[in-house]
Amino acid sequence: MSAHLLPHLLPHSLPYHPLQLSGLEPLSIGVDTLFVNIGERTNVTGSKKFARLILENQLDLAVAIARQQVENGAQIIDINMDEAMLDSKAAMVQFLNLIAGEPDIARVPVMIDSSKWDVIEAGLKCVQGKSIVNSISLKEGEDKFLKEARLCKQYGAAAVVMAFDEQGQADSYQRKIEICQRAYHLLRDKIDFAAADIIFDPNVFAIATGIEEHNNYAVDFINATRWIRANLPHAKVSGGISNVSFSFRGNDLARETIHTVFLYHAIKAGLNMGIVNAGMVGVYDSLDSELRLRVEDVVLNRSENPSLATERLIEIAQSLHGHQKENIVQTLAWRSLDTTKRIEHALVNGVTDFIIEDTEAARVEIESLNGKPIEVIEGPLMSGMNTVGDLFGEGKMFLPQVVKSARVMKQAVAHLVPFIEAEKLRSGTANQSKGKIVIATVKGDVHDIGKNIVTVVLQCNNFDVVNMGVMVPCADILARAKEEKADAIGLSGLITPSLEEMTVVAKEMQRDDYFRERKIPLLIGGATTSRVHTAVKIASFYDGPVTYVPDASRAVSVVQSLLGSGRDAYVEALNSDYERVRTLHANKAAQPMVSLESARNNRARPSFAGVNAPQRPKLIGRRVLNKINLAQLVPYLDWGPFFQTWDLAGQFPAILQDQVVGDAARKVYADGKAMLDKIVAQQWVSAHAVFAVQPANSVNDDIEFYQDENHKITPVLTWYGLRQQSERPLRDGLRLPNMCLSDFVAPKDSGITDYAGCFAVAVVGAEQKAAEFEAQNDDYSSIMLKTLADRLAEATAEYLHQQVRREFWAYAPEENLDGLGMIAEKYQGIRPAPGYPACPEHTIKKAMFDFLRADEIGLGITDSFATHPGSSVMGFYLAHPEARYFSVGKIQSDQVGDHAQRRDLPLALIERYMATIIS
Ligand code: SAH
Repeated sequence: MSAHLLPHLLPHSLPYHPLQLSGLEPLSIGVDTLFVNIGERTNVTGSKKFARLILENQLDLAVAIARQQVENGAQIIDINMDEAMLDSKAAMVQFLNLIAGEPDIARVPVMIDSSKWDVIEAGLKCVQGKSIVNSISLKEGEDKFLKEARLCKQYGAAAVVMAFDEQGQADSYQRKIEICQRAYHLLRDKIDFAAADIIFDPNVFAIATGIEEHNNYAVDFINATRWIRANLPHAKVSGGISNVSFSFRGNDLARETIHTVFLYHAIKAGLNMGIVNAGMVGVYDSLDSELRLRVEDVVLNRSENPSLATERLIEIAQSLHGHQKENIVQTLAWRSLDTTKRIEHALVNGVTDFIIEDTEAARVEIESLNGKPIEVIEGPLMSGMNTVGDLFGEGKMFLPQVVKSARVMKQAVAHLVPFIEAEKLRSGTANQSKGKIVIATVKGDVHDIGKNIVTVVLQCNNFDVVNMGVMVPCADILARAKEEKADAIGLSGLITPSLEEMTVVAKEMQRDDYFRERKIPLLIGGATTSRVHTAVKIASFYDGPVTYVPDASRAVSVVQSLLGSGRDAYVEALNSDYERVRTLHANKAAQPMVSLESARNNRARPSFAGVNAPQRPKLIGRRVLNKINLAQLVPYLDWGPFFQTWDLAGQFPAILQDQVVGDAARKVYADGKAMLDKIVAQQWVSAHAVFAVQPANSVNDDIEFYQDENHKITPVLTWYGLRQQSERPLRDGLRLPNMCLSDFVAPKDSGITDYAGCFAVAVVGAEQKAAEFEAQNDDYSSIMLKTLADRLAEATAEYLHQQVRREFWAYAPEENLDGLGMIAEKYQGIRPAPGYPACPEHTIKKAMFDFLRADEIGLGITDSFATHPGSSVMGFYLAHPEARYFSVGKIQSDQVGDHAQRRDLPLALIERYMATIIS
């Protein structure tokens, strides 16, 4: 039996009152509004990850999900806390209040989603703006329905009305429209509920379940949607889209295709909005035609033999399952498209194989029409890149793909440049650049992966970027910005001393009339930078706009806002936001602090006897490990941070199956592994390490390293420690200690000789190879290589630490952890790294470096204490079973003074080094 879609009867001639919603910004859904995406990932019943974060009270990460939703294009976010283990009401209130303080999230309206009215009402009491209640229904009768609707009205919210009545949830077309009609008239006639504020959800159910009654579910939904839009004036229609493909769980590609087809028809029928995972919706027109046909047979239930249609879909879905989407795309006959379309396809899919050929074809075609070579850039290439930009903006493409697209673009442009020059036209690329940015890693810092990604992303959005590289002194940056007539300056840095250097640049820009008068914007980015730091420590020193760019994905929108026509409004909003951040920061209740003396009296006092007695190392002294076998390092490699570098959020390996970024993650992972194989097989880099294990004792907050057990008068290295000075909380009636890493080393006056170590590892050679890639216009491979070199450096540190525990110091000779246990650091002992929270001070690296003679393994160190090459790690070894990482947090002036005295250094210098942690 085949069921057909009802004819198209949308009453476009009738006036249609828009649904007016708001977060901090208004959202109006009227007759001309395109389909509105409601983000579904902040729903504990729909997202395991979100549920876990909420249950574990990791609220900052949960908020990050909300932010990611908005960044990825959600125009409303659905929030649901209906989880058995939760106090849903409290969780709803807490979460809504949290996101209310995040202007980049709170700008969109909220959909308060719960099956419990008290949770909804608690939510309604906190939201600002006009939200949507999801949902009310006739399930428990008219009285309850109208009572809740009245409350929605009172709180000023719109309402999702489920097609649900006393008999149950409507599953047929007839029941759907009957219930919606009844609900509509009750709302209108009894309580004068605004018609435009009624949003019907005619129930999306799973199709292709193998049960015959389910075959027509999608069609019934689509037809009910059309009926509602035609017969219930001003009402809106919404639905939970992912349900439709529920029986294809685990096969994201099949699901995505089903969503795409279903939405295409439902939107045509008048669907206004839907709760969707934007990452799981594709473009109807670009679906493989065979696949689309099969999916359409099932979604529209138009086959004479529905179970056969379902079987066929399952068959094709199974053959797709596990296959990279890439493979399917490759089988498409895109090579037979016209030139412009081929170029667009190459750009969107990042395929370089035919780009020179296609660019040349485009050039010849344009020339035959008396056009100029530059028109290839202005025409097909720019339009392809615009498509990429749009898909990226809509959250349908992710960073690795964009960087790959940029590679295609660069290679095409490189092919055209000689022709353009021959034409005696200006060389270079687009002549309608949207603006020029000079970008640099600040003096003393060598980290540039994130900055290089930003460069590429901006370039492919048609900005001119002058990337000055790493360790660039302030004066050079400013001189270059003037010379290039830059419209903005971008600064990047990873280590904390770079934060100070950024302030220096801001102050210099203020002193220089050129920048101050033109108000040239300053962009701030890099792992240790933050919005608060930018507002408090940088923006206040410069009259021009100073913007924090949280990640590479955000760079384009920030630069566009700063250089585009909306600049004034943007800058005004920015300044008032930062002003607010500064006020909040200034008024933040100061954490209670204790004096250095009482902090020391409350130190951690682990035992150094019995099982905790120090173990004399098998090796005392220094040892170099040159050219460590790269293959041996691979099992120690932690892929987690690899995905962060590419702006893909999620834990490894779960990220590979993630609904939103899984596809992008799998591809970049496959590329990463393929390159890692080459790095290892062809020895593109070499890995080296040096370490030393020495007798050691603590003296208050310092750790002294000695040449041997009998010479404890003059240390060969002293590691000056920092101690927590905030008032520590009580736990079970006892105050937690004010820790310092030295607490885990036996005190000198105990008479016990203890031991400690330090190390440096370097992965050398990546820069050179990366430069080769750049010369071939292959930024993707260059960035990939540097990312992998960083990973290998961390893997070397992990490997070396294990060697030390098992072989050299040998305090854990029997330890037998696998790669995962190692990455989770489930072993005895720690390797705190200068610059990290337990030892936030970097200067010690210089003394360590000299003591280790780390130059012998190919390392250097800058004035800001960054080691180069960037793919390197330095740290200490502590072996006490109770030794653990912690955060020193803020310290007070008494400790700063004491520290300066211990090191015999000028106070002002120490104050500068510790600027970020002095309270
Ligand atoms: N597997 C990770 C390892 C690096 S992060 C990777 O491949 O990136 C973990 C390391 O950071 C620790 O081994 C230690 O060197 C350092 N670290 C983490 N927390 C720290 C803290 N609070 N204080 C000092 N060092 C810390």
